[in-house]
Amino acid sequence: MSPATHLREVFGFDAFRPGQEEIVDAVTAGHDVLAIMPTGGGKSLCYQLPALAREGVTVVISPLIALMRDQVRGLREAGVEAGALTSGNTPEETDAVLASLREGRLKLLYMAPERLASGATVPLLKRAGASLIAVDEAHCVSQWGHDFRPDYLRIGDLKRQLGVPLAAFTATADAETREEIVRKLFEGRQPETFLRGFDRPNIHLAFAVKDSPRRQILDFADRRRGQSGIVYCGTRAKTEALAAALREAGHSALHYHGGMEAEDRRVAETRFQREDGLIVAATVAFGMGIDKPDIRWVAHADLPKSIEAYYQEIGRAGRDGAPSETLTLYGPDDIRYRRQQIDEGLAPPERRAADHGRLNALLGLAEALDCRRRVLLGYFGEAPEAACGHCDLCDKPPETFDATQPVRMALSAALRTEERFGAGHLIDIVMGSATDKVKQRGHEDLPTFGVGKAHSKAQWQAIFRQIMGRDLMRPDPERHGALRMTEAARPILRGEESITLRKDTVKSARFGPKVRE
Ligand code: ADP
Ligand code: ZN
Repeated sequence: MSPATHLREVFGFDAFRPGQEEIVDAVTAGHDVLAIMPTGGGKSLCYQLPALAREGVTVVISPLIALMRDQVRGLREAGVEAGALTSGNTPEETDAVLASLREGRLKLLYMAPERLASGATVPLLKRAGASLIAVDEAHCVSQWGHDFRPDYLRIGDLKRQLGVPLAAFTATADAETREEIVRKLFEGRQPETFLRGFDRPNIHLAFAVKDSPRRQILDFADRRRGQSGIVYCGTRAKTEALAAALREAGHSALHYHGGMEAEDRRVAETRFQREDGLIVAATVAFGMGIDKPDIRWVAHADLPKSIEAYYQEIGRAGRDGAPSETLTLYGPDDIRYRRQQIDEGLAPPERRAADHGRLNALLGLAEALDCRRRVLLGYFGEAPEAACGHCDLCDKPPETFDATQPVRMALSAALRTEERFGAGHLIDIVMGSATDKVKQRGHEDLPTFGVGKAHSKAQWQAIFRQIMGRDLMRPDPERHGALRMTEAARPILRGEESITLRKDTVKSARFGPKVRE
């Protein structure tokens, strides 16, 4: 039977989802494969179909017992011989699995990585004629990831000992994790790599500079009255305040955060799931267990922590494929806060550098000069050629201007004051404001004093925000609020590179944000 026939007759699906068919073909052909697909993209089918098409048994390594049991149940209901060896088995279950393995009936054998620690596992799999290894949640092999599972490091050995192809699956798209997977699961030999299905074309993307955040969120919700939505907030207190403001404006709204009693959280989840047109103002604690297909909008009252977090959070909208809207607010305080969070965290230095990189990617998206979807998908490794026509920048392309001069003024003001001051003081210097602090420090005598009079204070604030957004300057973790230049700024300062910034955000800082209707 061909994979397409299996798809219909065993699983009852009419068609492949984006990317599935090519992955299925490569895995069935016995190639080593790394497939990166978003959560919910349909990864399991990409090893289940090849398992049916190939001789012998496919070993599936998965980190979650509950998930394994679900899949085994589903496969059995579809008439497929599948079993799991987990610590949750009864002895009878284990006996039955081992018997069908011995008799060569089993097509899929699920196991937790911990089982690889036992010396009996490899001989067992060899005898059973294991012909393919599938690794679910392959990013668990990454020591810098949040989900590191030490026993995943044994999978590379398993592959070597069995001498069979391996197909690894993950939703984690960043380059570092990908490289680590290749190094540890494939002994550094590049597998055939697929990256598919990250585009969610029904979701409209939009960012706005934080101006009067509460007003901006209320306006956004007002235009979507009666629709289910989520407002993600940076703090627990804000979820409560925003939910109250939304109720006052006549919406049906709840708050949700990790500090609530388990029972209250459960009630909020159930209400959101069942009711139409309920808004939940929540921290990121809300979402993991939410499986509501018709969430019509997601707003961020504060900047998320990384481009991955952003993608996951907006991705809760529009699972049903119907048009859905998003809006992400951000400002210089968000950037400072997120940087500080990374710098003050306990992660090792490499991890911190990677986290700054993920935040930079999100800021690059926030300050994008054209089609946001292209920037977003570009980060995940997909490179659409055309602009999407379904984001705020496609709706209304921003005006840009050559900002090399003002950016050099800003950088030079920071350097001449030994990178010891924050944006406020640096703006006073370039604008020539003789404040007490400026006078006390003798900064009136600097050559940069007053060189930037042509721009208003609001414009300078927008320029500094974009400078931080492009990671040309970063808050000094040792010295509160002070901005330090990054390596990326040097060519601009030296006059070797020019830089283009958006005019509209500079304007909007003065006139209030242009909110899209
Ligand atoms: P994940 O990529 O998160 O592991 P799953 O493999 O669990 O995703 O698939 C998510 C859902 O999509 C499941 O309910 C699955 O049955 C369904 N699905 C997968 N492939 C298809 C398809 N080709 N057509 C319809 N539904 C599909
Ligand atoms: Zn676009």
